[in-house]
Amino acid sequence: MIEPSEHRPTQAIVDLNAIQHNVKQVLATMQPNQVLYATVKANGYGHGAEQVARAAMEAGAQGLCVASVDEAIELRKSGLIQVPILVLGLTDPRGIAEILHYHITITVSSADFFVEAYQQLADTDQLSLLSLYQLPFHLALDTGMSRIGLTSVAEIEAFKATVASYDWIDWQGAFTHFSTAGGGDPTYIDYQWEKWLELTAVLPEEVSLRHFANSAMGMWYPKQPQSDIVRLGISMYGLDPKDQIPSPGFDLKPALQLISEIVYVKQVPKGTKISYGATYEASQDEWIATIPMGYADGWFRRYKAVDVLIDGQACPVVGIINMDQMMVKLPKAYPVGTLVTFIGDDGGLTNHVSDLARKLDTISYEILCGIGPRVPRIYLKD
Ligand SMILES: *Cc1c(COP(=O)(O)O)cnc(C)c1O
Repeated sequence: MIEPSEHRPTQAIVDLNAIQHNVKQVLATMQPNQVLYATVKANGYGHGAEQVARAAMEAGAQGLCVASVDEAIELRKSGLIQVPILVLGLTDPRGIAEILHYHITITVSSADFFVEAYQQLADTDQLSLLSLYQLPFHLALDTGMSRIGLTSVAEIEAFKATVASYDWIDWQGAFTHFSTAGGGDPTYIDYQWEKWLELTAVLPEEVSLRHFANSAMGMWYPKQPQSDIVRLGISMYGLDPKDQIPSPGFDLKPALQLISEIVYVKQVPKGTKISYGATYEASQDEWIATIPMGYADGWFRRYKAVDVLIDGQACPVVGIINMDQMMVKLPKAYPVGTLVTFIGDDGGLTNHVSDLARKLDTISYEILCGIGPRVPRIYLKD
């Protein structure tokens, strides 16, 4: 793994107070019988999974969602041992011993998982684990996303019949995911909702956690029956699921700032070419700053369209963004060590992730998740 750099001024500053503020904003709109799970997959959308998880739990989150068993194990190893951790993606049955050992709640999309997991335990002489642990799981239901999950009443009936005799599993929940809650055809939500009602109607009664809400569904679609769990992701990080500013009905605070410093400054004469491919040519004598940020840090080549903020001014990127460095044009000379803001506020200007997302024809999620592992995350908390 790449270790975060300690000798380079490029940093992501994560305000855990903002995370807690956002969690509380959403909790305030939820019913007493609903619980909030903090979605901290992909290293907490780039913010740091463990730190975000701890902050969110302190603010009232009662569970965590991750993408993989590895992410769940990492959180368990960090000392988060009591809290339920739900793996939202599908899992390799050969990992069953660790899944049991770390008490990870998995998602299944087929009863084959149990057959193969049991066989794996038998093959490795570990069936005795089943006298110590039960396997908690949620069943994925596909209501229109066409990603994972059972799609029909008939499939659910067959699943029920198969698992009825398994005494080592603990069927705790069932969930679905709405594909247009955060953008796209809103009438498709109604289609998926009807499907959800149809599929959940045949679940065994003891399957008590039935959930469908990500940030967008949790915030804007208080459907009945409600989502027993709100799997809060992007809004916890302070970004609106549709990149609206402000988020209708919510006061979300972005938690992450991405900053660096000028490490080199020079005045180049008119006609000087800058960066790979010599695509930029100074049209007059220009002040050019070099900044230690590049696509290996998650500031991708196409982000050239985004001005960086220096001393309260927007400064354009000149030339191609490199792996580790990039150049910007300054309005005048600034000393080495001057703060450069990529994401966040500087003076009266803001580089808001949702604005960047719109400009770059992407979504805030992708920008945040793209921030590279070598960028140190620095945490603020009162
Ligand atoms: C990532 C994810 C979430 C969280 O989504 P946000 O839009 O970030 O709130 C919820 N549920 C599932 C299944 C997910 O994959």
